Amino acid sequence: MKRLSDISTIKEILSKHGFTFSKSLGQNFLINPSVCPRMAEYAGAGAGVGVIEIGPGIGVLTNELCQLAYKVVAVELDKRLLPVLDETLAEYDNVKIVNADVLELDLNQLIEEEFAGMEVVVCANLPYYITSPVIMKLLEERLPVKAITVMVQKEAAQRICAKVGVRMCGAVTVAVNYYAEPELLFHVSAGSFMPAPKVDSAVIRLNVREKPPVDADKEKFFAVVKASFGQRRKVIANSLSAGLGMGKEKVLAILERAGVPQNTRAEALRLEDFAAIANAWEDLA
Ligand code: SAM
Repeated sequence: MKRLSDISTIKEILSKHGFTFSKSLGQNFLINPSVCPRMAEYAGAGAGVGVIEIGPGIGVLTNELCQLAYKVVAVELDKRLLPVLDETLAEYDNVKIVNADVLELDLNQLIEEEFAGMEVVVCANLPYYITSPVIMKLLEERLPVKAITVMVQKEAAQRICAKVGVRMCGAVTVAVNYYAEPELLFHVSAGSFMPAPKVDSAVIRLNVREKPPVDADKEKFFAVVKASFGQRRKVIANSLSAGLGMGKEKVLAILERAGVPQNTRAEALRLEDFAAIANAWEDLA
């Protein structure tokens, strides 16, 4: 088998299968040979480890994962890629392709059926049009996975990995930090993909926490986070009042009990502050 990361090999395979890229499926395939080995290593793919890949494309990253991991299950939505993957992964007997939409799939069941007794990690070059929904699905479903190592757009990486309480921070930063400790690993230029996207990318790793770092009712915590960032230019008292549909007087009482000044903005709040607001809301309900 020729080197898959070689651009002439990739072009040859794609033309042999008459494959045309689908923009709506976020198909930008990696052609930089140095990226996949680094991703696979950072992901923790190794002896005894099971890997879930999302969107294998023609299998460039899958190839690296198969070489290191005990087993790889790759979820690909585009049926047209199945014969391509049959060919590019022919030499491996530790890989299974699941033709499905990852957002519709029961991943807890997949892990139970495919990876019993194994440590499991996720590794993917994500289709950018569903970056946040996929990441939130992986975290919210509390999958028994150790870490999630994914390529995302550079701006998304910076937002997800921003420190909670600084300007770049958004609702997704707080949500991700509730479930995991994010790390920005390395940047990848737009020219590393075919076709080249308009923006650069970055690989991040979310080290999944065993339990959330704050103690609060989960529904109330996330309702507070969503409302707070819903109108991020407003001070917290106004955004909570609008976002939670709650009278100003009650919001002020909650903020006072939580010890959060009413004129703070969402981006300045730490995880503990959101939790304190959620708890004060519960106490005063
Ligand atoms: N892993 C390959 C690589 O790095 O070259 C391809 C990555 S490409 C950015 C994203 C891949 O996700 C494509 O193969 C696309 O068909 C697939 N995809 C898009 N939407 C998907 C979905 N909802 N579920 C599963 N796969 C999806």
